Amino acid sequence: MKVLSAASELFPLVKTGGLADVTGALPSALSAEDVEVTSVIPGYPAVMAALEKAAAFHAYKDLFGGPAQLLRGTAHGLDIIAIDAPHLFDRPGNPYLGKDGLDWPDNAGRFAALGKAAADVAGGINHRYRADVLHCHDWQAALGPVYARFLDGPKSVMTVHNIAFQGQFPATVFGLLGLPQQAFAIDGVEYYGNVGYLKGGLATADAITTVSPTYAQEICTPEYGMGLDGLLRARRHVLRGIVNGIDTDVWNPAKDALIPATYNATTLKKRVANKRTLEARFKIEPGDGLLHGVISRLTWQKGMDIFAASLDALVATGARLALLGTGETAIENAVFEASMRHPGRIGVIIGYDEELSHLLQAGADTILVPSRFEPCGLTQLYGLRYGCVPVVARTGGLNDTVIDANAAALQAQVATGFQFAPVDEATLDHTLARTAECFTDQKLWRGLQKRGMEQDVSWGRSAAAYAQLYRNLVKA
Ligand code: ADP
Repeated sequence: MKVLSAASELFPLVKTGGLADVTGALPSALSAEDVEVTSVIPGYPAVMAALEKAAAFHAYKDLFGGPAQLLRGTAHGLDIIAIDAPHLFDRPGNPYLGKDGLDWPDNAGRFAALGKAAADVAGGINHRYRADVLHCHDWQAALGPVYARFLDGPKSVMTVHNIAFQGQFPATVFGLLGLPQQAFAIDGVEYYGNVGYLKGGLATADAITTVSPTYAQEICTPEYGMGLDGLLRARRHVLRGIVNGIDTDVWNPAKDALIPATYNATTLKKRVANKRTLEARFKIEPGDGLLHGVISRLTWQKGMDIFAASLDALVATGARLALLGTGETAIENAVFEASMRHPGRIGVIIGYDEELSHLLQAGADTILVPSRFEPCGLTQLYGLRYGCVPVVARTGGLNDTVIDANAAALQAQVATGFQFAPVDEATLDHTLARTAECFTDQKLWRGLQKRGMEQDVSWGRSAAAYAQLYRNLVKA
């Protein structure tokens, strides 16, 4: 079984969020299921620099405004087809935004190129390769199923990692796409008179997945569907949720080279050394009391505005906080000001730092994830694996992966963390107090940590589910 995966991010080459972790980890997990994955990705500078053994695969005279070639090679053990199109992708930094922090004005063409190239490759434009299934991720790759449908390509899967990002463009963009006129319709890319990339992918893919069963249900409702819920309700029969796994080699507290002290579920005491380093890095007073952790985009989705307003309450419980994140200026300012109000109790580092994120999971007592919505969420899965107890909003994948420490779950010895709803200040304050109280019972806390570490958060189960989905599609 050959699957072509198309996405705008691929760990470790290009990453702005969880999408990259998923597309980077699935290929090796799927190889255990006899699925060969090739990944098509824009030729950003980081991709071109990492590509090894690159060989010409196909040339375009004009791919959305300039000549381009597809190069097939490898990087970090991944089989890659890079879209070497300097006029679209030879831009350093964030894959979507220019230096001014705004979307590149030609993003419609840049990501139409991704969808088009993916469908071309999957459909056998180079006769040596043809995919059984084209698997496209998020709006940037969402024209893949559209091209595959209208240009007679293979079966396709559209995966939604976050329905908030939809790729909507004015109707004039349609003329650039080279699609037949009938694609500008309700069962194509037309969306309220404009062009919707994700909408098109959802309308035309043979199967739709999202990254947790709870989120699959949520996006069929007006509250979470962000305008696409009607379409998703109509296509519910092909929609399912498959929870993400994590790369358990990259995220392994017993072998992690990025943390001072490695440990496992039987040597949890060793985490203390990590806690000390973490405190030092975040300029927090050392101590054995409760130390919360946050690794997050500082955005409304992540509930970080409400969280910022709860920081005085957090300190009032006697706890401390190490926060690593970057995002909206107002929230960055709010958490920074809280750190000035509570020196030694709240440590904030504004920035994106992969290494520090490992230290945080290995040294903090909790990982707080107060998201308003969360398709799957990865940080709580890393938390489970690192004995860093997840404290999460009851939504999306957070609901599916953390078992709340309520009386029944504690009694049955299945609890792995804390859940709360709704996401508002009062509930958050209450949860912070509840967490602090539970932390005083170290036996209970060790139980939460150990059970979390026993959870299977690897890609094995999800890869098996994707493989089954591909097989069903090919059979149908
Ligand atoms: P999303 O993709 O919506 O941002 P996820 O929880 O699915 O949320 O994935 C976030 C990923 O990005 C995780 O791997 C997390 O560790 C990482 N991450 C987020 N913010 C930072 C940061 N400031 N520094 C390092 N890693 C971060």
